[in-house]
Amino acid sequence: MNKRILVTGAGGFIGHNLVKYLKKRNYWVRGVDIKYPEYEETAADEFEILDLRRWASCLRAVRKVDQVYNLAANMGGIGFIETHKAEIVHDNILINMHMLEAARLQGVERFFYTSSACIYPGYKQKSPDITPLKEEDAYPADAEDGYGWEKMYTERACRHYHEDYKLNTFVVRFHNIFGPLGTYDGGREKSPAAICRKIALAKKEDVIEVWGDGLQTRSYCYIDDCVEGIYRLMQSDFHEPLNLGQDRMITINELVDMVAHIAGKKISKRYDLTKPQGVRGRNSDNTKLRKILKWEPQISLEKGLEKTYQWIYDQLVKSGRMK
Ligand code: NAD
Repeated sequence: MNKRILVTGAGGFIGHNLVKYLKKRNYWVRGVDIKYPEYEETAADEFEILDLRRWASCLRAVRKVDQVYNLAANMGGIGFIETHKAEIVHDNILINMHMLEAARLQGVERFFYTSSACIYPGYKQKSPDITPLKEEDAYPADAEDGYGWEKMYTERACRHYHEDYKLNTFVVRFHNIFGPLGTYDGGREKSPAAICRKIALAKKEDVIEVWGDGLQTRSYCYIDDCVEGIYRLMQSDFHEPLNLGQDRMITINELVDMVAHIAGKKISKRYDLTKPQGVRGRNSDNTKLRKILKWEPQISLEKGLEKTYQWIYDQLVKSGRMK
């Protein structure tokens, strides 16, 4: 019989895409979130609106499931996480502790948790040309203050539940996931989506605002690779945190130029140094990912951005925001 799966955060970007992926593999899927997916119907067999900060909702969410992918979180791009720290740690610690305990009581076989590259220490990310971050670099800890520390704490809680209760926990550290069906406006969007939106709305020759001086670096992973990696890790017997991202590092300036090229527009940049830009440089070291999963992300940044730009462009046309 096919396994019964719970995906929390199934109304969000990665959760929604993960539900589609699991349905293609014939699993029975229950999606849970405080909102329905924004841009298309869920593929889940059942979708329940539940607030997972509440214990009773978590108990309800896990009923009769074999495995849990716990993606629900109060989160957003750098502008959001730097200005909502108390709300983020309050909501996410409640969601994650309740979900872990509910999964244990339900006796689920496997529990998946989505951590973040935000747990890596600030002191290792002070220059744009940093050394890619290995999983071991997380300690001594100096995580992003708020969202990052909460992720760090829940990573450890997953380890304790594995060691003390033999709950099979799996932890991934995402590095900037992007793609169609992700938030692209409203303040919670991430840099690739924000840049695609700004360029789609720009004239053939125009200036767009860039946060910081554009020299900060990141690596970006396309959503299809992300869900493939999640699934592969969930099938493994590896219980320590694992990076999941691309290891091609580029500057924000290069990202803007790439999107402008895809859009066929001549775009110049106006830098706003008052806006938050996060760490100066960040990249993923994928040595362990390749070893454990015998796989690594396959889709090029150019290909992923083309699809994402087109999707955001179409959304803006549909919503009547394109001139
Ligand atoms: P998202 O914001 O699109 O999805 C998160 C979902 O959780 C949202 O739909 C939200 O409504 C839901 N949620 C929030 N509070 C809830 C509550 N109280 N009860 C039930 N549901 C609630 O974000 P995403 O990009 O899909 O991220 C999924 C997971 O991956 C999150 O845990 C996030 O922290 C982690 N992550 C994402 C990235 C990235 O680049 N997207 C990077 C690092 C980590």
